[in-house]
Amino acid sequence: TIGMIVISRRGHVVAGTSTNGAKFKIPGRVGDSPIPGAGAYADSKIGAAAATGDGDIMMRFLPSFLAVEQLRLGASPSKAAKIAITRIAERYPKFFGGIVVTDNKGEIGAACNGMEKFPFTVANERFPEGITKYVSCT
Ligand code: ASP
Repeated sequence: TIGMIVISRRGHVVAGTSTNGAKFKIPGRVGDSPIPGAGAYADSKIGAAAATGDGDIMMRFLPSFLAVEQLRLGASPSKAAKIAITRIAERYPKFFGGIVVTDNKGEIGAACNGMEKFPFTVANERFPEGITKYVSCT
């Protein structure tokens, strides 16, 4: 999945995902990516999140919605990402996935499970070409 969060100069926050889905998927499988709150979620007043990974597991937890709601309650983007991933890992310790979370000022956090580290790329006025960062999953 490619998940993208964009903050416009006017402060609009949007998020979206594009995916090829899962290996050996059954015909008609939808997965998490197009489901609001699961694959992605945005609220210009707060921020946004986009998730990738084992969609059949992750979509049961609406991780993108959960992360944005945690931002709303005052969590940092990193903390919100960690809460969303931990909520799933408590039930599915081996699930594979990651989430990137941004507040509406452009502060970014990410968290992941089931891999060593999770890459995400940030582009802004400082890094117009984009810079790839990694968060450790442990
Ligand atoms: N989440 C996607 C899906 O389950 C797969 C992915 O993120 O690569 O359809």
